[in-house]
Amino acid sequence: MKRAAAIRSLLVVGFLLNLFVSVYAETNLQSDPLTYSGGVRNSTDRHRLKEKQLKQVLEGLAEKTGFQEMGFDANGFLILGDRTNFVGGSATARHLLMDAVDSPSQLLLEHHPNSSKVVFANLGKSTQYHNMRTKARVEHLPIRIDFSDFGKLMGPREVLASFDLGMTILHELVHGVRKLHDSVNEWEEVGDCERYVNTIRKELRLPERQQYVARSHTIISPVGWTIKMAELQFARTDFRNGKLKTDEFKISWDVNRVGIGDQESVNTKITAATARKPEQKSTAAVH
Ligand SMILES: [Zn+2]
Repeated sequence: MKRAAAIRSLLVVGFLLNLFVSVYAETNLQSDPLTYSGGVRNSTDRHRLKEKQLKQVLEGLAEKTGFQEMGFDANGFLILGDRTNFVGGSATARHLLMDAVDSPSQLLLEHHPNSSKVVFANLGKSTQYHNMRTKARVEHLPIRIDFSDFGKLMGPREVLASFDLGMTILHELVHGVRKLHDSVNEWEEVGDCERYVNTIRKELRLPERQQYVARSHTIISPVGWTIKMAELQFARTDFRNGKLKTDEFKISWDVNRVGIGDQESVNTKITAATARKPEQKSTAAVH
């Protein structure tokens, strides 16, 4: 009996909470009639992207999808123009972006400059809005981007194109639209989300990501400088002279300048190389 009463009171609390959130959403969003519209949109709050960043998003997505007529409308929604007008690009990326633009959810592009919580980009918590009067419902999903992080990546040009702004936004759209998840541990290779993104990379003939979890190591120089570097591996396999050849690539970044991700190391261990150059290896998840 006691348990049943507890469940009943929990249900009541849940209902009241839901009501509060709905009413809160209603009163806060009355001024924006497009709250219940789906698609990919520039944020409407303090995280909104500036003109220059919107341009970077358009250039990044155009390079991966090949779409020629993309833009943002007066309300900040991404529009694709003529969807049959594309040059090059990945078909998988085009379908993903079309589904994102046509999605019933609102995917909001947010800028989080120099954020330690946003390493390149990640998907924020979703919020459900419910209009009590019209019964309309919509999910808002923030795509949080730290534009400054991309300039701090190091690696050959071709592999940087595998992990740039356009590819990173597509990664977040795979989460938001396809509902695929990242790898949850370092033993699983890349996870469902990155496996999907690797299809896009393959179509663009770009190196594919080999693991989801970034490896990090601390380098201590003889004069005492300490630099913690994170590293991701990529590979591209193709036929050359009748044989399958695989090229491997690495990208890296200074963890103190960019960050290492939400899930800090759970498996830190010392794998010291030599006394002169000790290395501390740890792992972290990146968007
Ligand atoms: Zn992810």
